[in-house]
Amino acid sequence: MAVRGVITWSPSVTLVPTRGCFNACTYCSFRLPVDRAPVLLLAEASAQLEARPAAAEVLLLSGEVAPGAPQRAAWFGHLRALSALALRHGRLPHTNAGPLSVREMVALARLNPSMGLMLEGLGPAYEALHGRAPSKSLEVRLAQLEQAGRLGVPFTTGLLLGVGETMAERERALHVLADLQRRWGHLQEVILQPWRPDGDTPQHLKPSEQQELLATIAMARQLLPAEVNLQTPPNLWPIELLPQVLEAGISDLGGIDVHDVINPAYPQPPVAELRQRLQHRGWELEARTCVHRAWWSWLPEALRRRVERGARLLASVSAQADATHL
Ligand code: SF4
Repeated sequence: MAVRGVITWSPSVTLVPTRGCFNACTYCSFRLPVDRAPVLLLAEASAQLEARPAAAEVLLLSGEVAPGAPQRAAWFGHLRALSALALRHGRLPHTNAGPLSVREMVALARLNPSMGLMLEGLGPAYEALHGRAPSKSLEVRLAQLEQAGRLGVPFTTGLLLGVGETMAERERALHVLADLQRRWGHLQEVILQPWRPDGDTPQHLKPSEQQELLATIAMARQLLPAEVNLQTPPNLWPIELLPQVLEAGISDLGGIDVHDVINPAYPQPPVAELRQRLQHRGWELEARTCVHRAWWSWLPEALRRRVERGARLLASVSAQADATHL
C-alpha cells in the first residue's frame, strides 16, 4: 500500500516538579496547595529518567507559584535544575509551567528546545472555570504566547475542548492562534484536547462529542497555517476514531508517556497498536523530538546539537520504545 503520510509522536516521560499551584481551576484534580505540596528531588527525577531510557522528551509539568511570591525564585531555580538534569541524561526538556517572565523564559529557552502553554479557550465558559486562576486569564495567556513569539521560542499551545464552550468560540480561539502564528511563526503545534472527567472509570466521548472533535480538527486545519502541526492525545478519544481523526487533519499524536499524569483514568493505547492501525490505513508512525524538525534552525547551536543527538537516540531505540510503550 502506498504511504499516505507520516504521523509523528514523541516518546516522553513526565516529571512533576510540584503539584503546588496558586491557581484553582474548577476542573483540576492535579493541584495541591503550594505550602503543602512535595517537591520532586533531583535524585528521584534521575531515577525516573533512568527507568525510561527510550523517552527522549522530558515533559516538565508543574503547578505554578504566583509571580512575586517569596517561593517563586526557588520554584523557578528547580525548573532550571530539572531541565539541566534532563540534558545531562541526554534527554530534551519541554517545560509547561504556566506563564513566565521574560527573564525566566529567556533562561529556560537556553535549556529547553521547546516550551508550552495551552491557550485553553475563550468565552464565558472558560471565564467561569478560571475565576480563581489568575494565570488563566485570556489577557495573560495571550501576552505569554506573544512573548514566546517575540523571543523566538518554538512553542506548543492548544485548546481544552468540551467545557461548555460553543463551536463559534472554538473558531474565534483558532483565529487568535492563526493570527499569532502569522505574526511570529513559533507555534510548532496546536493540541486539541478533549476535557475528560476524573474518576476510576474512563468516560468516553459521546458520539456527538466525537463529531464536534472531528469538526474542530477540520476547522483548525483550515484556519491555521499549514506548518502548524495539529495534535490530539490518543487516550482521550476511542481508538476506533483514529482514521477519522487523521483524515480531519491531525498530524501528530503528541508526547506519549506510560501514564497520563493529568488524566490518570485514561490509559495510553500501546504504541505498537497505534503503529499497526496506522499501517493498516497506509500511514507511517514516526518518533520525533519535542521540537519539530522545521524549528531546529531556531535553536542556539549547542541546544540544536543536543536535539540532533536526541533524534539519533530515537532512531536507535524506536523498536524498544514501541515494545515498552514509551
Ligand atoms: S493551573 Fe494547572 S495545576 Fe494549577 S489549578 Fe489550573 S489546571 Fe490545576
